[in-house]
Amino acid sequence: MNPKIQALKKKISNIDWILKGTLLKQYKQCGKNNCHCRQDKKYWHGPYCIWTRKEKGKTITKTLNQNQIQMLKKAFKNMKEFDQLVEKWKMLSLLHLEKIKPRKD
Ligand SMILES: [Zn+2]
Repeated sequence: MNPKIQALKKKISNIDWILKGTLLKQYKQCGKNNCHCRQDKKYWHGPYCIWTRKEKGKTITKTLNQNQIQMLKKAFKNMKEFDQLVEKWKMLSLLHLEKIKPRKD
C-alpha cells in the first residue's frame, strides 16, 4: 500500500468520538407567573448550552450538561481532524488517478 495512505489510516485509527454541529448559549423564560423572568430579559434563566445539528435535512436541538459539552468539543475537534485526513486521502487518490496511463495496444 501507498505509505502516505498508510500514515493517514494510522492517524484515523487514533481518533475516537466524532460529532458535528454547533454549540450555542441560550437564555429562557421558565413560564412561572411569579418568577422574575416574567418582568425583564435580564432575569431570564441560563445560559443553557444548546447543541444543534442537521440530520437528514432536519435540525435537531439538544440541551447539554457541562460534561457533555466537554466531550462534544473534543468530538468536534476530532471530526475536523477526520475530515481533513479524508480530504488528504481523496487528494492522494486523485493524484494516483492522474498517473494512470491508457493501455497501449
Ligand atoms: Zn423564571
